[in-house]
Amino acid sequence: QREQAQEQLRQAAKVFDSAIEAVMIADAEQNIVTVNRAFTRITGYEPDEVVGRNPRLLRSERHDRQFYEGFRESLNRSGRWQGEIWNRRKNGEIFPAWESVSVTRDAEGQVLDYISVFSDISAVKQAEEQLTHLAHHDALTGLANRLLFTARLEQAIERARRHRVNIGLLFIDMDNFKFINDSLGHPVGDLYLREIAERLGTTVRAEDTVARLGGDEFAVLVEDLSHPEDAGQLADKMVELLNQPVRVAGREVASSGSIGISIYPDDAGDGAELLKAADAAMYIAKEEGRNTARFYRPQMRARAFERMILENGLRRAIPQDEFILHYQPLIDLSTRSCVGLEALLRWNSPERGMVMPAEFIPLAEETRLIQPIGRWVFRRALRDLTTWRDEGLQPLRLAVNISWRQFNDEDFGKQLVNMLEEHGLNARDIELDLEVTESALQGSPRAVEELHALRAQGMRVMIDDFGTGYSSLSQLMNMPVDGLKIDRMFLHDVEDDRRSRAIVRALIELAQGLGLDVVGEGVETEAQLAFLREEGCRLAQGFLLGRPMPAERVPEIFRQAHPCEA
Ligand code: C2E
Ligand code: CA
Ligand code: CA
Repeated sequence: QREQAQEQLRQAAKVFDSAIEAVMIADAEQNIVTVNRAFTRITGYEPDEVVGRNPRLLRSERHDRQFYEGFRESLNRSGRWQGEIWNRRKNGEIFPAWESVSVTRDAEGQVLDYISVFSDISAVKQAEEQLTHLAHHDALTGLANRLLFTARLEQAIERARRHRVNIGLLFIDMDNFKFINDSLGHPVGDLYLREIAERLGTTVRAEDTVARLGGDEFAVLVEDLSHPEDAGQLADKMVELLNQPVRVAGREVASSGSIGISIYPDDAGDGAELLKAADAAMYIAKEEGRNTARFYRPQMRARAFERMILENGLRRAIPQDEFILHYQPLIDLSTRSCVGLEALLRWNSPERGMVMPAEFIPLAEETRLIQPIGRWVFRRALRDLTTWRDEGLQPLRLAVNISWRQFNDEDFGKQLVNMLEEHGLNARDIELDLEVTESALQGSPRAVEELHALRAQGMRVMIDDFGTGYSSLSQLMNMPVDGLKIDRMFLHDVEDDRRSRAIVRALIELAQGLGLDVVGEGVETEAQLAFLREEGCRLAQGFLLGRPMPAERVPEIFRQAHPCEA
């Protein structure tokens, strides 16, 4: 029996020593009696350094008196304590431990010894912290995410309420991110956002929170504002910083952001409302030219609401057949006859009446509604064209405006070809102009490629509003382009501004030198017309030559000898 008991003891000792968890046994007077190898591994103390000493030597300063009182009380009451505790290693480092302590008593209830078993849970803690970090931060930029931001915002409002101070909230939306992302690809878009996040981080104080709310939307929480105007100054600084070009993947990308500012408690009493107010102000900053900051004003909410209504209306416009195409004649100046037509979109809204494209195309682009709308325009224009052909109006050149956004459709070119087929047409048998702006070609290799392919199929590519973009003239030679339309702003001043005259003259010369078609846009006076003629410009459009008109009126105009003289 004694041998058996000894064997059991040997086994117990082996278990004791090979345990992964630290074991520490103290006597009734709380002197450490023995520790195992794991104890040494975890705490750094050799057995002879701790035997005879009080377990208190492991204490960290992380816990207060109350904590240790609770600990003792639990031991007295139930003979056990279990929980998370911060301990200190020999080298001074503190670490989280999961520890259970139990008391052994004899039959009379006298304490025999205390046994503590604990493990180092630093790794678990770290993983936990990482998880919380992940849940609260944006993986791309490392900034706070919406969840953390709204939590901080609520806390900040609580504090501001108590201390009667102001909070500023800045809502930031980048102006050209969608363009960068769509034309240069997502990896470049990601790099761009990181750079932007970094810039925002450098403008704020350590105690302010910068967050990425999603996509290209950022927000900044400025606590303890002494004057609301300080938020405006910060926003101005940010606008300026965001407007510096960004170098990504070896190229320079133009950049700018629009910022809306709201102030607690002036603009709203809670976080959600404050965020909405800043958002509304941001939209106004966009509307008023982008690359700028605006303070919230109560009437802005009405305008943000108005925008929403407009978007909803726009969504219904195709199914409810509310779009209309008008056509503006393209005039050959040598004969003053109509040689072509440009399709111009109108929205006949039941609520608003006739809405012009300037009022809804930007929104349609932003919401991607431009893609289905663009297809509708193309189909309707082809339908009208076949009608006119059947009536014997030939040859007719047809121009359709294409938004850069439409190139987001991977198969944009194929769509066009399919729609031509639907109408029994082939691009080679008709004269079809695709009008794109310089920005559609700028920095969008995909659009350029697509247009090359479409030209090869027999379509013509015209650069619209030429002179207002920022493309360099030398680049033009490598672009898939057949002609330029000189923006009407230049023609507008031609009569009394020598510089405008020089520009128009140079543009015409440039186009002819490159073998390109050139169209003068916005001819309103005989003097402008005479000037274009003198400079050798063959094609023109303008109210003087013919206003945009419904499709039904086209045949009648076309047949007149001098069709467009009013
Ligand atoms: P745009 O392509 O430059 O079209 C010419 C605009 O100038 C038209 O305005 C036309 O009515 C106007 N205009 C023509 N002659 C004169 C003139 O002598 N004087 C003045 N002051 N204006 C003249 P509209 O129809 O309001 O279109 C505005 C813009 O909306 C267009 O500019 C074009 O960029 C866009 N747009 C129109 N239809 C479409 C479309 O189907 N798709 C896309 N993506 N954009 C379109
Ligand atoms: Ca146009
Ligand atoms: Ca134009």
